[in-house]
Amino acid sequence: MKKQKAGHSKLTQSVHAGSLGDPQYGGLITPVFPSSAYNYDQVVRYPRYFNTPNQKAVAGKLAALENTESALVFSSGMAAILTSIFAFMKTGDHIVLQSDLYGGTHHAILHEIPRYGMTFTMVDGSDPSNFEKAIRKETRVLFIETPSNPLLRIIDIAAVSRIARKHRLITMIDNTFASPVNQNPADLGIDIMLHSGTKYIGGHSDLSCGVMAGSGKHAEQVLGSALHFGGSLDAHTCYLVERSLKTMVLRVRQQNQNAMLIASFLKSEPKIAAVNYPGLKDHPGHAIAKKQMSEGFGGMLSFEVKTDPEKFISRLKIIRKAVSLGGVESTICSPVKTSHSKVPPAERKKMGISDKLLRLSVGIEDAQDLIHDLKGAIG
Ligand SMILES: *Cc1c(COP(=O)(O)O)cnc(C)c1O
Repeated sequence: MKKQKAGHSKLTQSVHAGSLGDPQYGGLITPVFPSSAYNYDQVVRYPRYFNTPNQKAVAGKLAALENTESALVFSSGMAAILTSIFAFMKTGDHIVLQSDLYGGTHHAILHEIPRYGMTFTMVDGSDPSNFEKAIRKETRVLFIETPSNPLLRIIDIAAVSRIARKHRLITMIDNTFASPVNQNPADLGIDIMLHSGTKYIGGHSDLSCGVMAGSGKHAEQVLGSALHFGGSLDAHTCYLVERSLKTMVLRVRQQNQNAMLIASFLKSEPKIAAVNYPGLKDHPGHAIAKKQMSEGFGGMLSFEVKTDPEKFISRLKIIRKAVSLGGVESTICSPVKTSHSKVPPAERKKMGISDKLLRLSVGIEDAQDLIHDLKGAIG
């Protein structure tokens, strides 16, 4: 596991970084500034310019947690992802991505990129040299997601960033599954970190947001497109995100521990066909995950049942059937019916996503209670 730099304790930063405080009344926390109209004598502030006080406060905390100069907070993960991709590409340009992407990203690339005269190549990311083989002279961006959804595949982040540097490409990572607690790709040379903040950053299944983090220069470039596309976040939700971030390290630590225990339990169950969790020693990406993830292996895992997956889910009492992930409550879903429903079956098969696959987002409940719940469903 990677050592944290001195003076960069995430526990301390999650509580204090970015906070505006309340100098007028001596309050400790950032007040909510709902104003959409500001005097323009000094700075032109406006929600869609991504520079209102609550947007700046939460972006400051996120930049500290991702160990980057800057961050921008968006209204959804997809707003952050597509705005960032479009900010660095124009007609004729090419992007290389891994094939096992989050379903929403996969669908967006397939449908939006060709409509603007741009091209893409998707490769098996488990061997980094596949990215290099796909590079052409018009390639601008390398895009990765690790651990990936829903198979928890691991990509060697440092190897990909070395390839990108050699070819002078912009690198982007969807860091949603790891969260800034478990993985800081900026330290491994990645330019742009993207998150669905709807997941671990929000952490309570009650808000939608997205994050882009990177250097000041890269954030400026993304901002140039972001203020046109308009995916900005309102002050009240920014406040909720800032509040959520204060406990993110604690939440994710508990989720790491619970997921490790649950993955080991499922692995020992003969009625479970396969378990995907990068913390397991026989996971094909375990050694790389251990090298590039700092606190733990995350709260996400997936497994294949031998029985009817919907029946399995219906027998659970604590773990809730729901889309989305990263909340304090454990949730389970069938990727084929949710995140990957728009991916054609043939494509899904190629990606290795079986109809019997279930994806579990481990919450902060007691691990033994969760294991007991799963035991009951296994029968
Ligand atoms: C949910 C998710 C997204 C999309 O985020 P939204 O907030 O729903 O727009 C992108 N990537 C991953 C890995 C996700 O889980």
